[in-house]
Amino acid sequence: MTTLADLDVNGKRVFLRCDLNVPLKEGKITDDGRIRASLPTINALLAKGASLVIAAHLGRPKGEAKPELSLAPIATRLSELLGKPVKFAGAITGDDVTAAAQSLAAGEILLLENIRFSAAETSKEESERAAFAADLATLADVYVGDGFGAVHRKHASVFDLPKLLPHAAGTLVAAEVEVLKKLTTEPARPYGVVLGGAKVSDKLGVISNLLGKVDVMAIGGGMVFTFLAAQGYKVGSSLLEVDQIDTCKEYLTRAAALGVEVILPTDIVVASKFGADAEVAITSAHEIESSPFGDKGLGLDIGPESAARFAAEIKASKTVFWNGPMGVFEIDKFAGGTRAVAQALTEVDGLSVVGGGDSAAAVRILGFEDNQFGHISTGGGASLEYLEGKKLPGLEVLN
Ligand code: ADP
Ligand code: MG
Repeated sequence: MTTLADLDVNGKRVFLRCDLNVPLKEGKITDDGRIRASLPTINALLAKGASLVIAAHLGRPKGEAKPELSLAPIATRLSELLGKPVKFAGAITGDDVTAAAQSLAAGEILLLENIRFSAAETSKEESERAAFAADLATLADVYVGDGFGAVHRKHASVFDLPKLLPHAAGTLVAAEVEVLKKLTTEPARPYGVVLGGAKVSDKLGVISNLLGKVDVMAIGGGMVFTFLAAQGYKVGSSLLEVDQIDTCKEYLTRAAALGVEVILPTDIVVASKFGADAEVAITSAHEIESSPFGDKGLGLDIGPESAARFAAEIKASKTVFWNGPMGVFEIDKFAGGTRAVAQALTEVDGLSVVGGGDSAAAVRILGFEDNQFGHISTGGGASLEYLEGKKLPGLEVLN
């Protein structure tokens, strides 16, 4: 991969693709981790005498300008964190944007509007993306790819544009790739993986690929219930992906054949309904419907016994990768499992990696500091696809 050291940016205008896709609640940024993670590359480029045209996406506007997904609040926060002005373009292309880019002096920054307001950015039509990329290319002399969270996407600003300009990976992308390499080539053992989050179907690829590589796999979060159903247990009204039950069965069989220990929770925090004011009971994972809420009960976290077991396995590992919260951590009653797993990761004697947008947000919201972990990946889907063994278009193109 070409890195910043290989690219001459002095006096040049750099098109910098960042990942500034931060969670927002009522227009306020709730976790600015991805903005902070973008600062080293921005500062490095400015120190080398470049001016910057920064592009990023926010949410899924599906090719339309959605005011609530404008990057305007991101420009404000970025400016605060950098301690210098960030000009906000208010558009992606057009005469005003071109003029604003051309008037940048060395050390100045222009942030474009949400790149996904343009349907061409994510288009499946290569020609549409190429035409958009050609427009973007007129804004700068060179390209730096630092939006790790988007490198698994064949999008115009990630994949097509770098082909048109001299290019390099930013320091964030380089650092992410270095850690992922450690997780995939001769990891120190025991190697434990903890998976959670909302959907089994999102994580099946990574489960399948990692089963052959890890010693222990602990599964929590919403996915648990499809695994419990695969073992023949009833799960009340918990998240269940009926069409994935057979796949989960197959994984359990394969894990047994490979000698990989799959750890499922033994107890579950069951709620009367979804919400902070729900009533709560702790049941055996095998008797979820025995709670006072019967078949209406919702499993929203792993129970304390399971949390302790998961934590012990994590602490006994020399390499740990964790993706996906153990429960609905956004509500404090259901944050216990996630908190226990996060705490255990901070105590690992070896490499501990947190991957996934919500997982990274969870550790910060629960009060942990970034430096308590070996690495917090900014990319959920991207890091999972890398671990699945897939080629990531936005990385391939920077080679
Ligand atoms: P990441 O972004 O870290 O990859 P996901 O997006 O897969 O994680 O999942 C995060 C979401 O999963 C959180 O919003 C959390 O509330 C939800 N979640 C975790 N456990 C459960 C559960 N038992 N039932 C419903 N949702 C859950
Ligand atoms: Mg997520």
